Amino acid sequence: MSNEFIPAVTPPDPHPEDALAFAFKKDQLLTRLQDEQAQIPTLGELAGLTDADQHYLGVCPQHGHCYALELTEETEAPTGLAFHGLRDIAPKLGPTLFGIGGRAVQIVAWGQTHRYCGRCGTENVHAENERAQTCPSCGLMCFPRLSPAIIVRIERGDQILLARNHRFPTGLYSVLAGFVEPGETLEECVVREVREEVGIDVEDIRYFASQPWPFPNSLMLGFTARHKSGEIEVDNNELAEADWYRPNELPNLPLPLSIARRLIDDYLKKHGVL
Ligand SMILES: [Zn+2]
Repeated sequence: MSNEFIPAVTPPDPHPEDALAFAFKKDQLLTRLQDEQAQIPTLGELAGLTDADQHYLGVCPQHGHCYALELTEETEAPTGLAFHGLRDIAPKLGPTLFGIGGRAVQIVAWGQTHRYCGRCGTENVHAENERAQTCPSCGLMCFPRLSPAIIVRIERGDQILLARNHRFPTGLYSVLAGFVEPGETLEECVVREVREEVGIDVEDIRYFASQPWPFPNSLMLGFTARHKSGEIEVDNNELAEADWYRPNELPNLPLPLSIARRLIDDYLKKHGVL
């Protein structure tokens, strides 16, 4: 059986008690930490949290039906469960549950910020057969919003460009990334971001892979590119530092689940270091 998540909007009737419930209070996920693993409670276990708004997400071949629950700020964690940031417990969730949690947190955030119609102010209702909120008064529909961002690995000879963002924990280096602007192609965005952040020009831009990154609603589009011209000149508004590194002298790298790390690991494999 395929390992891919099958998204759906219309829930089974009745709601299965053993479905997984990804319940969020703001961006904090209700989980049970056991040994080195984070478990997701079932719908049945959370049946007492009756004022939660719920969205059906679809079916995971490994875990069955999945729901996202929006909890109110007053909600207290039931015994044995606690609230944790999705990113903090990513390694304990593993890639499959982290991926579904990423879907859930974005749907929940969208639900919370689109309760009322943006045109006439009437309270929205969930559309029946698609992922949308509909205004019962004027008919305006709104859909979950995604913010596309590029992330790019740049090489010069056998070296890779890594940079430290002001927002990163001290000592953590990664590849460059930035949001796509309206009217821009992805390739233009790569060229612009690289020029803005480190002052160099790149060529041979190739698509690598993509990753949903729900912090808060990005879709990361990964590319590789080669240095064309120019010396590094760091834009200090964005970056603390940037430099060329050889495969066997890399600084501290990002989380293994991130596409940034996949881009770097792919480079290391190419040079026989991994
Ligand atoms: Zn309306």
